[in-house]
This record gives sequence, C-alpha cells and structure tokens, in this order.
Amino acid sequence: MAKIIDGKAVSAAVRAGAKQEVEALKAQGIQPGLAVVIVGDDPASRVYVNNKKKACAEIGIHSEEYALPKETTQEELLDLVCRLNDKKDINGILVQLPLPKGLDEKEVIETISPLKDVDAFHPQNVGRIMIGDYHFLPCTPAGVMELLKSADVEICGRDCVVIGRSNIVGKPMAMLLLHQSGTVTICHSKTQNLKEVCRRADILVAAVGIPKFVTADMVKPGAVVIDVGMDRDENGKLCGDVDFQNVEPVASAITPVPGGVGPMTIAMLMKNTIRAAKLQNEKR
Ligand code: NAP
Repeated sequence: MAKIIDGKAVSAAVRAGAKQEVEALKAQGIQPGLAVVIVGDDPASRVYVNNKKKACAEIGIHSEEYALPKETTQEELLDLVCRLNDKKDINGILVQLPLPKGLDEKEVIETISPLKDVDAFHPQNVGRIMIGDYHFLPCTPAGVMELLKSADVEICGRDCVVIGRSNIVGKPMAMLLLHQSGTVTICHSKTQNLKEVCRRADILVAAVGIPKFVTADMVKPGAVVIDVGMDRDENGKLCGDVDFQNVEPVASAITPVPGGVGPMTIAMLMKNTIRAAKLQNEKR
C-alpha cells in the first residue's frame, strides 16, 4: 500500500504559514495585494479566479479582480497590466490563462513587471529559475516540491522522470528536480520507449493532460508517483494522468486527484504574493 500524499493537508499548512507571514507584514505596515485579471467567460477560469480570491481573503491578502469582456483588445489589456504595474497597493499580478483567441499571451506576460509576476512566467523569471537565482517559482511545480518535502522524499541522486514539457509545468518541474540534484529525464509525445524510460524512475511526475495515461506497467515498484493532471474521465468526473487504482499498489507514495497537487497551486501563489510584497518593500 502506497503512502497517500495529502495535498489538502500540506496546502492547509502552507496557507496557515502564509497567514502568519501576512500578519507579521501587516504589523510592519505592509499589506500584500494581488490583482487577478480575467478576460472572457471561460467557466473553468472563473472557478480558478474565485478560488484565488477566496484564498486571499482567508490569508489576509488584499485582492482585486479585473473582469474584462471577451471583446477586450490587446491594447486595452496591456494598458490595464501597465496600470497594475504602477499601482502601489498591488504586489502581484496574475492574468488568468488561457486568454480568448486573438489576444497575445506572450506579449501580456512580458508586459507584467518581473517583480510582480507571481506566476513566474515572465522570461526574466524563467531565466532566473534556470540559473537557480529566482524570486518566484511557478506555482504548480513549486507545489510538487513542497509535497515531496512533506513526504520526506529524497531527490538527490535519484532518477526523476517528468512526462510533459510545457513551459508552465513540465520544464520548470524538471529544473526544480535538477536543482535538488535529481537525475532528470523529460519525456514528451515524441519520446521513444516511454514505458521503459518511466520504469527507471524513482520519482515519476505526470503532467500530460490525458486521463489515466500512466498505467501500472510504467511504474517501477516502490516509485514515488506525482500526478499533476486535472482531466475528466469518460463520465466527466475529475481524474488525473495516473491510473490511480492500479498504480497505487505498485508505488511507495502517490498523490491522489483530487486532493494532491491541485490544492498546492493556490497555496504557492499566496506565498509568491507575500514574497512579491517583501521584495517591493525592500526595493523602495
Ligand atoms: P500541455 O501544455 O498540454 O502539455 C502536455 C505535455 O504532455 C506536452 O509536453 C506533450 O508533449 C506531452 N504529451 C502529450 N501526449 C503525450 C504522450 N502520448 N506521451 C508522452 N507525452 C505526451 O499541458 P500542461 O499545461 O503542462 O498540463 C498538463 C496537465 O496538468 C493537464 O492535465 C493540466 O490540466 C494539469 N495542470 C494542473 C495544474 C494544477 O494546479 N494541478 C496546473 C497546471 C496544469 P509535446 O510537447 O511533445 O506535445
């Protein structure tokens, strides 16, 4: 039986720590603030934005929502981001992705001040992660690292396989494991012999976006399996990239979906917002 890594509990602990940090900052006259920008009416984006606002309220972070219609032009969106860059009571800016068709995400991300880029998507922050001298870590991979730490998983010297090479999850995930001296392999849709490569992993991270993609025969007995996926099964029910039922008996530790990586992402966003507030107050 694998140890179930409880993302809800770890996330609650991170948020409790964040709340204490906010209280300490407030005592010094610093009120962290996060602006969340949502364009259009994508229902999943709306749920994410509501959850982010709720977490801010719980922790004591000031939050502002900017909900723009899907007809918003690139110029209008960039203008808003520039105004938020200058806004003194806003330390973090998050533009909820994906943006509606016709808007250029890359340009929007590059317009966010790197010191307010709490998603850590700006090329300057991505570069900083690469050299290991960063202000912010992207929330989902950072959440995975926190889960591994909570479960006392040794990374140094161990074989780590990440399935997926997106800029948001796969690539930064691999980099964070490398920073901890894991021996890291990144797999993607063109990888040959995926099953064999995955079976070498002491730590296997799935960020593919295909329901139950990782099957028991892809997992080395005793491996730690982290499921980043947030997919829908044939009945429309939330599930992960890992066939949990059949993989769990093979693994030594595993994250469930829901209740694994998912709750960590927002907790890490709260930490990044606090970090942004500290950084901007140091710079003044
Ligand atoms: P993405 O941008 O679609 O990337 C998926 C990756 O999987 C790509 O690199 C792709 O390879 C690879 N892939 C696709 N089919 C494959 C196959 N047959 N064999 C091997 N690799 C394959 O997705 P993402 O944004 O990284 O998200 C991945 C999953 O994580 C999704 O389920 C998403 O919902 C979830 N997610 C969860 C959170 C959270 O908070 N828990 C946050 C972000 C994302 P190529 O590059 O070759 O196409």
